[in-house]
Amino acid sequence: MPDVPKKPCCVCRRWFRPDPRIGFRQRACRNPDCQIARRKKKQKRWRERHPDYFIARRILDRGKAERPPEPLRLPPPLNRLPWDIAQDEFGVKATDFIGVFGKLLLHGAQSQFEAYLTDLPRLPDTLPSAAVQSQIPPVATFGSRNPRA
Ligand SMILES: [Zn+2]
Repeated sequence: MPDVPKKPCCVCRRWFRPDPRIGFRQRACRNPDCQIARRKKKQKRWRERHPDYFIARRILDRGKAERPPEPLRLPPPLNRLPWDIAQDEFGVKATDFIGVFGKLLLHGAQSQFEAYLTDLPRLPDTLPSAAVQSQIPPVATFGSRNPRA
């Protein structure tokens, strides 16, 4: 078997001679720390390319359970919805999908808002102060004015 030329480790950058059975495909040296780091990097890349894999697997696993599982625990304001009723009506898989969908939308909206806040050096006051708010006369409440009258 021909000698495989040395190459730099993708983690520690030290030169190493790859295992002849692996050859050019070996990217990290035999140092266990480098092997662990390479594996973690590879798994991270895989998760980034397949962001839905673990979500889909969890939804499918929960859907297969003999007894219906507890509804997913979701962050506010999604936790205000009656997920147990949704689960009874739509089934576990559909409810989990809706919950995950809501969570993704919420996360997207929050990260947009955070990006907006970091773009501004200081958020201008958009609402009057509490003292000014208390001076505003109350608006007619629902039902006090009949639009058909
Ligand atoms: Zn290394």
